[in-house]
Amino acid sequence: MDLGLTGRVAIVAAASKGLGRAVAEELAHEGAHVAICARTTGILAQTATDIQKCSGREVFHRALDVTDSSAVGAFVSAVEARFGRIDICVTNSGGPPSNSFKNTKPEDWRSAVDQLLMSTIFFARETLPRMQKNRWGRLITITSSAVKQPVDGLLLSNSVRAAVTGLARTLANEYAADGITVNNVCPGYTRTARLDHLAATISARTGSKPEEVFASWEREIPARRLGTPQEFAAVVAFLASERASYLTGTSIAVDGGLIRSLL
Ligand code: NAP
Repeated sequence: MDLGLTGRVAIVAAASKGLGRAVAEELAHEGAHVAICARTTGILAQTATDIQKCSGREVFHRALDVTDSSAVGAFVSAVEARFGRIDICVTNSGGPPSNSFKNTKPEDWRSAVDQLLMSTIFFARETLPRMQKNRWGRLITITSSAVKQPVDGLLLSNSVRAAVTGLARTLANEYAADGITVNNVCPGYTRTARLDHLAATISARTGSKPEEVFASWEREIPARRLGTPQEFAAVVAFLASERASYLTGTSIAVDGGLIRSLL
């Protein structure tokens, strides 16, 4: 299937590692011009070089924190100046820490809102008007299966990602007539540094070994294994494509069947 991504300009936020990186790789392989950001300069620059080498496409990169609205604004302007337009924006950030309600302080809540919700708003504010000018666009948020079924211990993620889902559904309605689709993609357990960190936290709290934590997750998943970042990225690439033009306002789980709900 030709996804029609050749020559499209795609921003992928928080993309030096894990899911963001896999999405940037997939879009570059499909022929898009890709721009990535993350906070740590060295790893980000290496990722841009790696993707450039294997896709043969120039990858624009800039170190920034997605919670900084002016840095996001300057980044989007720089990408437009470099590639001439913005067609696709995939929002992403690191995940908030695992904690109980009792031990979560007001500043932890504020930080999770900045990290998950405000970062998405900053990218949406910058990219949607540019997509609107071209009457074509794709805004895709990376959220979590937690928006369909809360994950034990992930209080902040369970709570704040629901707001991102509401935002995306509302934007889908507002921008559909401009040829812009807005969708959430919800990873289940996918093997990345974030999951290793989560397993280590649970292991320290419960006394079970990290491999036992992974095994317990695998037992929960009908596919009986974790997902790969590439399996996740393939779905994002489809949503970003020409072929997904009538698909908007959805939240698609890429989770090996983890979420048991009918819809
Ligand atoms: P990851 O492997 O830890 O990668 C996170 C990426 O985001 C890195 O490139 C990191 O680089 C960047 N980043 C983090 N905070 C940032 C910030 N404030 N500004 C700019 N860049 C930032 O995580 P992942 O597994 O790919 O997860 C991505 C998202 O999906 C997270 O929100 C996570 O909670 C969610 N999720 C993941 C899974 C899973 O199983 N992996 C499941 C459900 C949901 P720097 O640290 O250098 O900035």
